[in-house]
Order: sequence, then structure tokens, then C-alpha cells
Amino acid sequence: MKIICIGKNYFDHALEMGGLPPKEPLFFLKPETALLRNNEPFYYPDFSNEIHYEVEIVVRISKMGKHIEKRFAHRYYEEIGIGIDMTARDIQRLHKEKGWPWEKAKAFDHSAPVGNRFLPITKFEDVQNINFHLEKNGEIVQQGNTKDMIFPIDELISYVSQFITLKTGDLIFTGTPEGVGPIKVGDSLQAFIEDELLLDFEIK
Ligand code: MG
Repeated sequence: MKIICIGKNYFDHALEMGGLPPKEPLFFLKPETALLRNNEPFYYPDFSNEIHYEVEIVVRISKMGKHIEKRFAHRYYEEIGIGIDMTARDIQRLHKEKGWPWEKAKAFDHSAPVGNRFLPITKFEDVQNINFHLEKNGEIVQQGNTKDMIFPIDELISYVSQFITLKTGDLIFTGTPEGVGPIKVGDSLQAFIEDELLLDFEIK
């Protein structure tokens, strides 16, 4: 499986990163080894001094497809979950400056904690109107609603599948809202869709 991450898909996050939102979806990949499951702890890596959380709605692909038309994209996913796009912001900043690839900042081991439980999309009236949030040590640090996505889920699936074949089990991280920030050893993170706690782990 592969993990496809969308960049700058919320206006206020694009601004906080110091740029305007893109005209087309931006994406990058994380390998399978980036996954962190079962609420296992995240061990702060020694290659960075500035790991940031980015809470994101995660779409699990349920059917193989390529060149998917937007109007058919809803047939390619049945469940959503929540995950964190852990980012070594110090490395990312340097690599952006130099025009280097982002993998070192984004694709490292366990940079993609994902809740074990996914929710059927039939549970929601509208997948483009779902609240989600992240708490750090019991305080809300990020809050979003999928209605604020610049490119909605169906458009992301259609767009990415023009370039990369989507396979069953692939995960799409759909972008983070504003409020990204640092973690430190000893922090605990909890991520929620609506009021449901779906991801809960410690930084060690
Ligand atoms: Mg992200």
C-alpha cells in the first residue's frame, strides 16, 4: 500500500505556511513504513528538533482505479479515518529553500500515525461537512471541517488517479487545517472525528 498526502488543501493553513493555496492539488507520498498503528507511541527522532503535527482526515481507497472521473470518485472509498502527517519542519524548510525533495521531512518511519478504526461514510450526511480536531495534552490545538477543503475528496481522488493508480488499502491524507505546531517528548495527542476519539498516543 501507499500513502498519498495532499498539501495546502485548507486556505488558512496555506497562509500560515507562507503562501497562497495552489491552483491544482499538491501531493507527495509516504511509504508503508511511515505507518504507526494501534495507538503505539511515537518516538521523537534524533534527526530533527522541530517535529510538527498536522491532523488530517484520511480516506481509505476501497477499489483499484486509474483515470477516475470526478463523478465516479465516490465509488472508490467507503470509509474515512483520522491521521497525523508528522513533519520535520526544520528539514522541510531547508529542503524547500534548496529545492530538494521533501521525503526526509515527510516520509520517515512512523511519520503517519493513523487511527485503527475507520468510520463508514454512510454514517455522515455529507463527507464534505465533517468536523475533526486534534488535542494536545487535553487542549484543542487544531480544528477543521471538511467543507473548508480547497479540493474536495472526489476531486483529489480523480486528480491523483490521473498520475498514480490507486489500489485497495491505499490511504489519502487530505490536508491539514490551520494550527500546526510542535510536539515534544511527554506530549499526548488525541484526534477526533466529530466527537469520536479515533487516535490516542504518546510522544516518547
Ligand atoms: Mg499535511
